Amino acid sequence: MRFEAPRSAYVHIPFCAAKCGYCDFNSFAGMLHLAPRYTDALCRQVSSAAGASPGLDTVYFGGGTPTLLPADALARVLGELRRTFGLADGAEVTLEANPESASYEKLAAAREAGFNRVSIGVQSFDGGQLASLGRVHTREQAVAAFSAARRAGFQNISLDLMFGLPGQTLSDLHGTLASAIDLGPEHLSAYSLTIEEGTPLFERVRAGEVTPPDDDLAADMYQAVRQTLTRAGYEHYEISNYALPSMRCRHNEAYWRNGSYLGFGAGAAQYVAGERLTWEGDPVAFTGQIESDGRARAAFSERLEGRALLGETAMLALRTSGGLDLRRLSLDFGEDVEAVFSRPIRRFSQAGLIGVDDGRVTLTAAGQLLANEVLAEFLA
Ligand code: SF4
Repeated sequence: MRFEAPRSAYVHIPFCAAKCGYCDFNSFAGMLHLAPRYTDALCRQVSSAAGASPGLDTVYFGGGTPTLLPADALARVLGELRRTFGLADGAEVTLEANPESASYEKLAAAREAGFNRVSIGVQSFDGGQLASLGRVHTREQAVAAFSAARRAGFQNISLDLMFGLPGQTLSDLHGTLASAIDLGPEHLSAYSLTIEEGTPLFERVRAGEVTPPDDDLAADMYQAVRQTLTRAGYEHYEISNYALPSMRCRHNEAYWRNGSYLGFGAGAAQYVAGERLTWEGDPVAFTGQIESDGRARAAFSERLEGRALLGETAMLALRTSGGLDLRRLSLDFGEDVEAVFSRPIRRFSQAGLIGVDDGRVTLTAAGQLLANEVLAEFLA
């Protein structure tokens, strides 16, 4: 397997206005005072990686809440990426935004700095559900953020939605989907809420204060999302992602190809030449490391090779509508991949969870509902 040089970069901004009740991401409330030092550290980390990429095709500022950073700080970090690696013509440059901090002024400045795609964390258009998730924005702020992004010149806007929320009914979900479609985004991500251990929401579920949907309702919701969005003209191109024609997220497509990418910032992941690592996750410690000797430390790293690398590549490909191309993968890995995966292919095609057509393996609609179980067998 030949590793290509990374043409994608992820930048992590770990600050949030408040911690949502379900969130176990590497994000922190009440730490924005660190932003100036953190921005300097990011710029130093980027410039010290000179030579690591022949030029970037995709850049993604995620979080946390990147729009909590002042616009000039976002522009500085993007400028450092451009100076250090170069941005390809037509590069996709995404800024994640949360409605409470996505003002027209900030988005216009971001657009001016070179961001050309914005991904807004809406999650729901139901005020009650937003409050129960601990989101700090309202439905009105989400609509205003979308309209601000359009006015700022963004022609590629994605909305993040969640379903399977405690107390949510199918009718509530249809309301959120209709509001999202009405706005006319180019891209939508719709994730099923997972109740992560250690979060306040986990404790509330355990105490019986709130009840998540049962498996049948969660499956109905997944199908409702798929049917509603595909009928509205969105292509379902990955388990949780939908796009208008030619508006897929190229940055995420690089992940699903198991392509290389650079990572910058506290807790950011990076995957280069078969080595996967995660930088120090504590923003204070991360910033201190760079300030002391210009180098971030990896909190975790592993080398992916052999069967593990093949399994990871297959698992990621199966998430997408293009599926797993057995011939292509056999050429890349120099072995008969159909033979390697003969057991899960036989088992899941008999169960109707995958389809095999002209050397391509894809999840069926039933398989998408049980994706975790199916994909785990390819990883093993
Ligand atoms: S805004 Fe996103 S990253 Fe921040 S706490 Fe909420 S879910 Fe987590």
